[in-house]
Amino acid sequence: MSLAIALAGNPNSGKTTLFNELTGARQHVGNYPGVTVEKKQGNCQSEAGHFNVVDLPGTYSLTAYSLEEVVARDYLVNETPSMIVNIVDASNLERNLYLSIQFMEMGVPVCVALNMMDVAKKRGICIDIEKLSQLLNVPVVPMVARSGEGKEELLSTIATAIAGKEDKGTAPLKISYGSDIDAALDEMEIIIVSDNFLTRTYPARWTALKYLENDKQIIADGKKENAGVASLLQSIVGKVSRHLDLTLDTHPEGMIADQRYGFINSVLKQNVVTYALDPNRLQQSDKIDKIVTNRFVGPVIMVAILMGLYHFTFTYGQIPMGWFETFFGWLGTAAEGALPDGLLKSLVVSGIIDGVGGVMGFVPLIMFMFLGVSFLEDSGYLARMAFMLDRVFRIFGLHGSSVMAFIVSGGIAGGCAVPGVMATRTLKSPRERLATLLTVPFMNCGAKLPVYALLVAAFFSENKALVMLVITLISWTGALLVARLLRSTLIKGEATPFVMELPPYRLPTFRGLLIHTWERTRAYMKKAGTVILGISILLWAMMTFPGLDIAVKEQFELKRDDITQGVTGTILEEIETSETGALSGKALALKQALVQIDQNEAQAGLKNSFAGRIGVGLEGISKFAGFDWRTNIALVGGFAAKEVVVSTLGTAYSLGEVDIEETASLSQRLRAAPGWGPLTAFSLMIFTIFYAPCFVTVVCIAKEAGSWKWAAFSVIFNTALAFGLSVTVYQVGSLIVS
Ligand code: GDP
Ligand code: MG
Repeated sequence: MSLAIALAGNPNSGKTTLFNELTGARQHVGNYPGVTVEKKQGNCQSEAGHFNVVDLPGTYSLTAYSLEEVVARDYLVNETPSMIVNIVDASNLERNLYLSIQFMEMGVPVCVALNMMDVAKKRGICIDIEKLSQLLNVPVVPMVARSGEGKEELLSTIATAIAGKEDKGTAPLKISYGSDIDAALDEMEIIIVSDNFLTRTYPARWTALKYLENDKQIIADGKKENAGVASLLQSIVGKVSRHLDLTLDTHPEGMIADQRYGFINSVLKQNVVTYALDPNRLQQSDKIDKIVTNRFVGPVIMVAILMGLYHFTFTYGQIPMGWFETFFGWLGTAAEGALPDGLLKSLVVSGIIDGVGGVMGFVPLIMFMFLGVSFLEDSGYLARMAFMLDRVFRIFGLHGSSVMAFIVSGGIAGGCAVPGVMATRTLKSPRERLATLLTVPFMNCGAKLPVYALLVAAFFSENKALVMLVITLISWTGALLVARLLRSTLIKGEATPFVMELPPYRLPTFRGLLIHTWERTRAYMKKAGTVILGISILLWAMMTFPGLDIAVKEQFELKRDDITQGVTGTILEEIETSETGALSGKALALKQALVQIDQNEAQAGLKNSFAGRIGVGLEGISKFAGFDWRTNIALVGGFAAKEVVVSTLGTAYSLGEVDIEETASLSQRLRAAPGWGPLTAFSLMIFTIFYAPCFVTVVCIAKEAGSWKWAAFSVIFNTALAFGLSVTVYQVGSLIVS
């Protein structure tokens, strides 16, 4: 039989590391919040028995303030695992035990895995394990999850404890919260028990406690269960709150938290924790933080680190990127040669290889970027960045935790808004969360970078770096201003304090970095293989069908016949068999004329295609921003995925394929095309920064914001904003230029 056990604990206590160690899985181990919101399952076979292990999201508390807490708590009450394995960071006992206490109050079976014993030892913290276990009345097993030390002992302890619990059950821990609250709890408990109020799911006293802690979820559940009892309980809560406010100038939540910490302190004070080192010695992390998060030096270091990251990525990522380009170039040529002319060839070469290859070509660059970001994250530095930028973000109605979402989305460059939107899950205030997830799509994700790269190379080759910097600044400024706007209109509300804990600096493990990088890269490649593949095919179809009318086609045929008429057979043969360079003057001229006709025909076909008609239809308004119908096609395609903007532009402007190698020549074509200039390019870049997020992001926004209304809002609002800005840039720019 397999026993269900759940791993629970504070973020960064090592849950995922232990989970991987137990199950042999390779889950993402990471410091950034929002990684483990969904629970992960795995199996563990050992001498002690067979276990089904669940990795719960990290939480500091069990009050439904954040999504993680709701997920973790729902799991505990609905799935009733045989044992909660509470991972506790031994180097940070007091704070970690705060959660442990709450499990015990809930009356669920708990076993403490005292992790990071190596760190505790290094810091000279000695813990009397037996004493701790005795005082808390739960089993405690010391361990080092990273090296697997203590794993077997933990499993056998769990097995024994589960067997023991079977006859005795678990009695909830009862802490005294002071006479006022205790009296209210007693009163409420009686009501709850006699009315069987929510007692199927929660212990009576626990429900009462949650009412006092003002737990939104329980209060909502209570209203549904029995509105009469619910309002009775609320009135008791109201009474105690007023009383506490009058007498102690506090409120029940604060009082309960204080008492819990008091309980923990009283446990720890009984010689459970002793220090081997001089307690005055500053801990190493604190020492580093004195410099790294310093008001003046901190930002300078931050910029230097970011520049280092870009430099690292672009210098070393470029090398393997070349290999990928070569490979896809070769693949395209091979397919070109192997397939017969016709629709299938066009689909494979222009639709599939170009579309997917264009995205895959960026894999090495993305991988290097992820490796760098993983390093910053695992070492604990990214948390410091959030800490420093919190001061700035606060002004705009956002939160320190928003910084992480912005960075993940491409704030530094080359991220993706999808994980960015997910990362907002750590924000406790729903308003700040909403404002964040609506503004992260303005960041310069990896898919937008090729667009800038193309336009900058074509029109701003003198000041590449400067223009990129300006683009980055515009995106941040825009995002922050929009956030401010939203927070003072549609999503008004108080700011919440920044409680993110700064994890101690750690040297990332090589294995951890690799897993981390791989997980993210895989997600990117998966997108290329699925979503982008589908979109490429769809776009290809839209740009290919319905094709030209027979009558029009015949006209082009006639033109061809016209110029080939009267040409001798030997010249025609020469054109077909030899390379361009080796042609005689007459043959060369003829060949060029034929190519010109082919291109005109292809252009006419594109203009007549479904996509072309949309592009032409939009030209009426898009011309104010300087975009012609071909650009419109690319931008419409970019709504599906920004990756396709460049390849679509390429197709539209050359009707040949555009892969990265040919980006340079696409630049030349754009420069030569009528209506194009630095102003149009800049207007297009502004539009690209701000317009509707890609389709996948929109779906994510709907899911995370809990409503399609916000998803629709972001599509409409962003596009309107982008259009307004581009028109302004283009019109004002035109005035200045003329
Ligand atoms: P989670 O947020 O609880 O899932 O924590 P993770 O498993 O992601 O671990 C956070 C960090 O702590 C990672 O960098 C781990 O490598 C590191 N870590 C986990 N267990 C130990 C341990 O026993 N000792 C040390 N020194 N580091 C550990
Ligand atoms: Mg985790």
